[in-house]
Amino acid sequence: MKIKDYRNTSYKECDFSINSKKADFLVFFSSVHPKAWNVYDHVSVKQNELNYKFREMYYEKCIYCGVSIQVIDSSNFEVDHFIPKEVLKKELPDYDSRYINGIDNLVNSCKSCNRAKSNFICEETSLDLIHPDRNKLHEIYVRENDYSIKIHPEYSTNEMVSKFYRVLKLDSQLKRLDYLIMEMKDFCERYNDRAEIMKLHQLILSIEDKRRRVS
Ligand SMILES: [Zn+2]
Repeated sequence: MKIKDYRNTSYKECDFSINSKKADFLVFFSSVHPKAWNVYDHVSVKQNELNYKFREMYYEKCIYCGVSIQVIDSSNFEVDHFIPKEVLKKELPDYDSRYINGIDNLVNSCKSCNRAKSNFICEETSLDLIHPDRNKLHEIYVRENDYSIKIHPEYSTNEMVSKFYRVLKLDSQLKRLDYLIMEMKDFCERYNDRAEIMKLHQLILSIEDKRRRVS
C-alpha cells in the first residue's frame, strides 16, 4: 500500500522523489554559470530564475514540514544546506565546500524549519533516513487526523528520527494550522465549480491573511 506523504493534502499529491530533477537543474545551472561550482551562492539569490526553478523542484513546499506557497510568501522560503556550512569550520573529513554548497546538499526549506534546524548535523548512518532527497521522510513522519505530525511508531525508538523531529519542532501548533489552510485551499480548488464553495473560500482567505502576518 502506498503511504500518504504527510506533506501532501488529501486533495493534491506531490511526488517528492528527486530522480533526475537535480541533474537537469545542474544542466540549466551550468548553461547560465558555466564556470561556477558554488550552486548555493547563485540559487539562494531571491527573485531570480534559478531560485524559482530550485523551489519548483520541491513544488514550492518546505521539504521538512510541507508548508507551501499557499500559506507563506515565496520570500519565506530559503535554500537550506542539509549538512550545515558549520561543518567546514570543524573540518570534518567527509565534507568539502564543493559538496556543502553543491546541489546535492541543498534543499528547499521554510524560514521557520531552516532557523530551527540551524547547525544540526545528521549522523552519517542516518543520512538515508533523514536526508530529504533520499525520500524517506514520509515513512518516518506521519500526518494524524488532527493534522499534527507524529513519528511513525516503527521509528519511535530511533534517536536520530526523534531528535530531528524535536529540532524541527514538527509538533508545533502553527504547523497544524498551516496544514489546515492547505487542506481547505486544495479542497476549494477541487470543488471550485460549486457556488457554496465561494463562501468557504472567502473565510479561508481571511484565516490565511492572519496567518501570513505571522513570520
Ligand atoms: Zn518547514
